[in-house]
Amino acid sequence: MKRVDLQSYKLLTGKNLEAAVSAGAREVVVSDGVVLTPTARDVIRRAGLTIVGNHATGTTAQPARDSASARAVQLAPPASSPNLSKSSRSDEAILNSPEALVIKEEMVRVGKKLWDRQYVDGNGGNITYRITEDRVICTPTLLSKADLTVEDFCLVDLEGNQLAGRGKRTSEVYLHLQVYKTVPEARAAVHAHPPHATAYAISGRVPPTCVIPEQDVFVGSVAISPYETPGTREFAKTIIPYVKDHNTILLANHGIICWADTVTHAEWYVEVVDTYCRTLLLAAQLGAGVTRIPPAKQAVLLEIKKRLGLPDAKFGLEECQLCDQPESAGGITVCPTACPHNAPGGCSQKSQDLETLVKTITDEVMAALQETV
Ligand SMILES: [Zn+2]
Repeated sequence: MKRVDLQSYKLLTGKNLEAAVSAGAREVVVSDGVVLTPTARDVIRRAGLTIVGNHATGTTAQPARDSASARAVQLAPPASSPNLSKSSRSDEAILNSPEALVIKEEMVRVGKKLWDRQYVDGNGGNITYRITEDRVICTPTLLSKADLTVEDFCLVDLEGNQLAGRGKRTSEVYLHLQVYKTVPEARAAVHAHPPHATAYAISGRVPPTCVIPEQDVFVGSVAISPYETPGTREFAKTIIPYVKDHNTILLANHGIICWADTVTHAEWYVEVVDTYCRTLLLAAQLGAGVTRIPPAKQAVLLEIKKRLGLPDAKFGLEECQLCDQPESAGGITVCPTACPHNAPGGCSQKSQDLETLVKTITDEVMAALQETV
């Protein structure tokens, strides 16, 4: 097993770790107190890297769920455990049950919203709902989401075998099934091609965090999964490293997938992320950078999010690690203001180190400019 020494780094980014993986690393030695950015932690999970000397901060990636608090908050229903069981009913009986009819009517409404908002094109996009532990209702292939009726839906098992329903199930169902197999609390998923979020997906970028509260609370940091041929099992597997900590994933050169506790909420997340991406693109036309939510206020948003039972890779991080702006900072988590942590080697020390580095570079650039004048 090849071991790579990265102890000289005080801050490790996804790019640092991807370089180590490209060099054949399976183990990475890090210094005490090293800060791992969210993208770095994604690379660790995706590549199965072993971190040695791990006193790193920001490595507690598993979201803490506080379902009791979540029940007390009425902003949105919590993504609580579905408490599903296998059904003894026949597959036809499940698909044609009164319970399924309510879900199918909701899926018809959501299909129309997706089409009205131009988030799906042609026969693109798909909607699913996990109605029992191992049965999923899904939209059929080759049908516009604007034209769905309650008679059109299919029932599949978790391997994608069609068990009931008039239409042929969508080939993209593997993507949805991968969500349900990886995230037990996921009950619904929506795949769509919203233009503004897809613009990020085709440019290989994810939108920054800490800009608009609704985005940070309901979606948070957005992951991007690598390209694979749509409709294949290999394509579905590309989301595995991200889907537990992200309810919204950009699919490179394709579109997005969102999961939630209900079909309606999964569609909300499509709306939230596409509106957010659109707003960022409009702001870019103004020619000035966006202002950011201060880290302390961002921590408040994360608390709200935790109470709602929504996933986020940033639970457990220190304030100065909460805001990453991949577009402007190459994926590096930076402290825009001095952090309140004063422990030796803590956040404030790292912030000062970064500020010192920026000042050194600025001084050198100014000195070089003066020499040329
Ligand atoms: Zn698609």
